[in-house]
Amino acid sequence: MNAPDSRTARITGLVPSLSDRHVLVVGCGSVGSTMSDVLARHGVGSFTLVDPDVVEAPNLSRSTYTGEDCGRPKVDALADHLLRIDPGTRVTGHHCDLDALLELQLADLLQQVDLVVAALDDPVAQGALDHRATAIGRPVVHCALYRGAAAGEIVLNIPGATPCWACATGQRATSHGADGAHLRGEQDYGTGRLAAETALGADILTVVSVAAKLSIGLLGGPSSPVGTHTLTAIARHSMCIISTSAGWEWFPGNFGETPGQFAPQSVWLRVLGSPECPVCGEHRVAPVAPLGDGTAAGALASFRSGR
Ligand SMILES: [Zn+2]
Repeated sequence: MNAPDSRTARITGLVPSLSDRHVLVVGCGSVGSTMSDVLARHGVGSFTLVDPDVVEAPNLSRSTYTGEDCGRPKVDALADHLLRIDPGTRVTGHHCDLDALLELQLADLLQQVDLVVAALDDPVAQGALDHRATAIGRPVVHCALYRGAAAGEIVLNIPGATPCWACATGQRATSHGADGAHLRGEQDYGTGRLAAETALGADILTVVSVAAKLSIGLLGGPSSPVGTHTLTAIARHSMCIISTSAGWEWFPGNFGETPGQFAPQSVWLRVLGSPECPVCGEHRVAPVAPLGDGTAAGALASFRSGR
């Protein structure tokens, strides 16, 4: 194996050392596992992983997991994967959902990390996580796919610099496509989680790679080229929608007759924060546990549904 110093030889000058950076990854499916893989290969030194699921065979077509991982908790399999990339990586896994993590004092954990990667398939939990991270001042990169990974969205929540995830997604979370179906996919009303859909792993990677670069930039800071890229994006926009399919929804209207356009395409959006937002507005509500059973969750749900 190469010496540790040579591991980052081909990204030297592009990314500062990230060995002292700690990333919390909540949701270790196709998005979370791939994000973790890319961040580890760029030198992130510490990870805390949260996911309640075990690896199943259908996961193998679009994640970092292998056949040998089937039946194992995703956090354990991903931890081993990250350690194979760099044995010096520090990884802690929590095989549980966000409800259970709240009992494990999520606030304390958030204090310890530099960045949160939110890749959940439960919009309520995603909002609760964003609320808590915002209250503590931790940046969050949200990455989610729309139906069939025909498109995906990335939301950057940098407390103090951008509006929050609820301000970014309130309207879109309830919007529907031209065929009347929900843009984000069908929800399993038994669990509140988004139902798994067929989608090309290659399309998921297209969206995740953009989120990963933005994350590396946030971790690297303004002194690096990738950090400058991320900070420039944040100064102008904090939400990106990427279509992986030609002619997706409102994209043709956006690009018009511009020549040379095909998929993938991206549109960046400036998010307008609402003074009424309970997370980042003028009258903030403190996040409280248990999830979904407090004034914070109620205020957040009401705010998002009304936008
Ligand atoms: Zn907000």
